[in-house]
Amino acid sequence: MNKNVRVRFAPSPTGPLHIGGLRTALFNYLFAKKHNGTFILRIEDTDQSRFVEGAEQYIIDTLNWCNIPFNEGPYRQSERKHIYKQYAEQLIDSGNAYYAFDTTEELDFHRKDHEAKGKTFIYNWHNRLKLKNSISISEEEVKTKLNSGVDYVLRFKSPQDETLRLKDIIRGDITIDTNILDDKVLFKSDGMPTYHLANIVDDHLMEISHVIRGEEWLPSLALHQLLYNAFGWKAPEFAHLPLIMKPTGKGKLSKRDGDKLGFPVFPLEWKDPKTGEVSKGYKQEGYFPEAVLNFLAFLGWNPGTEQEIFSLEELIADFDLKRVHNAGARFDPNKTKWYNHHYMQKQNNDDLAKQFKAQQFQLSTIDLDYVSMVVGLIKERAAFVNEFWDLSHFFFVAPNSYDEKASKKAFKDGTKELMLELVSVINSIKDFKVETLQTKIKGWITSSEIGFGKVMMPLRLALVGSLKGPDVFNIMFVIGKIETIKRIERAIASI
Ligand code: GLU
Repeated sequence: MNKNVRVRFAPSPTGPLHIGGLRTALFNYLFAKKHNGTFILRIEDTDQSRFVEGAEQYIIDTLNWCNIPFNEGPYRQSERKHIYKQYAEQLIDSGNAYYAFDTTEELDFHRKDHEAKGKTFIYNWHNRLKLKNSISISEEEVKTKLNSGVDYVLRFKSPQDETLRLKDIIRGDITIDTNILDDKVLFKSDGMPTYHLANIVDDHLMEISHVIRGEEWLPSLALHQLLYNAFGWKAPEFAHLPLIMKPTGKGKLSKRDGDKLGFPVFPLEWKDPKTGEVSKGYKQEGYFPEAVLNFLAFLGWNPGTEQEIFSLEELIADFDLKRVHNAGARFDPNKTKWYNHHYMQKQNNDDLAKQFKAQQFQLSTIDLDYVSMVVGLIKERAAFVNEFWDLSHFFFVAPNSYDEKASKKAFKDGTKELMLELVSVINSIKDFKVETLQTKIKGWITSSEIGFGKVMMPLRLALVGSLKGPDVFNIMFVIGKIETIKRIERAIASI
């Protein structure tokens, strides 16, 4: 790369960030880091009617949670409003844009009229002269209108009969016939630019070297390239990331898919400020940010090897836009859990124990070391901290009942006597360690020719309340001698 890499993540604050948006941020971040570049956050809030309170903070909180901070910004287009007008005027002066005065009703009429005739209405050279704009009406009239304060917009004058050759790092060369292009609105009489104008002006002024964004912006690429040409500016390079598709079937991943199948589509929980509706977030569902980043990286990119686990540093080292594919990336909710399970195993037991304690009020008075020891025994079976209690409650609270089916299997004739004998074996063990317990109890079973199941099953049931849980000797060691004997005696009394 022979120029300074400067990339931007440019979300519009219209609600919570979809995980697709977070993937765009991640790919921008990875690209910037890989090339020692700058990652910029730009809030594209020119459409005030779609502005949602709290959305910008949500974006920042998300980037921080994921540990992919921006180095510049946040810039807000609403605070840069004064900049855009001169550029709009520059386009008028160079003949690349014109004033249009058509009302919404008039445009609707044309649209419907075309539809009725089986045609699509495009506001371009084809229809310009039939519409109300500075190309179809006299200069005098335009002046009068502008002075009278009526609403107007500024439209880009798309060229007629030209073939545009566009480049995309991921998709290669793209050819566009300019006759299909609409004369998009660039500026409105309320003094606000539209997305297209503000986006191009800002990318230019901020010296953006690469625009990395979602595929939904590919249809805007032609206009953007034309705008760069009209200003006489060099365009950045473009890379349009593939859509993230539903787990099954056609179409892109929506919040509805998540609601239906029970997974979040937003990184953080979001409470709609208007309706109060709460949407699930990966963070609150118990995902680790490393797992979220790892699965997002694989939505559209792959390293070309078998390796699936990538730390952020490894992603930075291996990421390459050339290895991003253009076909839609299918979202697999099970894979995200698989990643979380993996990152769970790598987490430090003390850290997990802290999270567990924070979630489970019964643990508030229990020693962190004890909780940490328990976590070490059960985390292998968990993908989320919120599964810990189900897997470990018997380490903290003695069972007050025994699973019915398991009791039938484990508590048989003769069990009571065996359990009494077991208590005396346990009582005789001075060095209450896992290995000693194992040797002594197994030795007793073998030498008395009892059969393992006959002892181990009722023992587990006595300690756990069901036939689940980690290794019995580990459980005994953790809860200790006194508690072990107490639980066995209670089970004896119930048989
Ligand atoms: N504001 C646009 C969005 O919300 C940005 C598109 C772009 O990156 O050019 O996604």
